[in-house]
Amino acid sequence: MAAWRETGMLRTLPQMQPCGRYVLDGGRKLLNLSANDYLGLAADEDLRRQFLHTLSEQEYVFGSSSSRLLGGNHPVFDRLEHLIAARYGREACLLFNSGYHANSGILPALADRDTLMVADKRVHASLIDGMRLARAQNGAAFCRFPHQDYARLAEILHGRGRHFARVLVVTESIFSMDGDCTDLRALVDLKRHFDNVLLYVDEAHAVGVRGSGGLGLAQEQDCIGGIDFLVGTFGKALAASGAYLVCGRVVKDWLVNTARPLLFSTALPPVAAEWAAFVFARLPQFEDRRRHLAALSHRFQTASAGLPGTVAATDSHLVPYVLGDPARAQACAHRLRAAGFYCLPVRPPTVPPGRAGVRFSLNAAMTEAELDALAAALGSLSDAD
Ligand SMILES: *Cc1c(COP(=O)(O)O)cnc(C)c1O
Repeated sequence: MAAWRETGMLRTLPQMQPCGRYVLDGGRKLLNLSANDYLGLAADEDLRRQFLHTLSEQEYVFGSSSSRLLGGNHPVFDRLEHLIAARYGREACLLFNSGYHANSGILPALADRDTLMVADKRVHASLIDGMRLARAQNGAAFCRFPHQDYARLAEILHGRGRHFARVLVVTESIFSMDGDCTDLRALVDLKRHFDNVLLYVDEAHAVGVRGSGGLGLAQEQDCIGGIDFLVGTFGKALAASGAYLVCGRVVKDWLVNTARPLLFSTALPPVAAEWAAFVFARLPQFEDRRRHLAALSHRFQTASAGLPGTVAATDSHLVPYVLGDPARAQACAHRLRAAGFYCLPVRPPTVPPGRAGVRFSLNAAMTEAELDALAAALGSLSDAD
């Protein structure tokens, strides 16, 4: 830990209180650029009030008391699964307690010794842990392809992939640390050349934010039907907690028998699922927020283009500011905080070595003026460098 402290790698729990789109730091109010409240729904007190008015007494249940396989299958879970499956136009949906539970539980339940998992190099830790578990428990194989390098992916599918009964291609739709979007259509097209390839897509950062109905990038790119396993989470844009898998009927039945985080963990609090259902049902109504967020992202990236840390403009609301060295990233975050902006340094192992920096996570509750001020503050930091 002493070595981590010296190299700017030591993590501690920030002592900040969230407050709408700000955090309170002692007596100061800082604009929160590290939250995942992409639509500004967590900051929306009116929406919360509306929700509370819809609840009847028997829906105020704060604990499930057991897993859904035992006595914990409260009706709201089935209702929410039906709603989600119907929205996506797919056969089935299965809820999980979190995105981490979903990814770390589904992959080991699906991948056996005849399965090869092929993942983008930069997928989320929960997917990596799922693949590691599948390898350790079942002897499944996995390998990675360079970030968004579909030519290399195709080589793997034509080569090593031919020796497996099943190949699972694993990716995210908007990458959390890079903010870039996957060409899901291209992956669906690629998959169609093979009879043993299935596609697993984690839409954690795109659900709510993209697509005309807020279902994510697969909806925007009109290829929901081509994705065999589509994971969405409630914890980010939906301002709730939990996650879901959209899949076929047989897959759902299989997972109900085999996904250990589902079998061996107490189900979500019913009241949390009620809130998730309330927000999910309203996703199509948040088009104004999605449009505002897209406009903000574009404006901020234009305003900050040319600064030393800016990477190639992303096409999303996640904007990485890569500085390279962890200590430099930490110093940048520290100085931005002094200027009224709360953002956290991202360091290895969250990002690859050499890619430490600060990540700006924009949301629809922010204003143009606030982000213009952030771009100006970044500009004066780099002048001082
Ligand atoms: C946040 C995130 C998760 C984890 O979801 P939780 O519900 O917070 O556990 C999974 N995948 C990706 C890509 C994420 O960004």
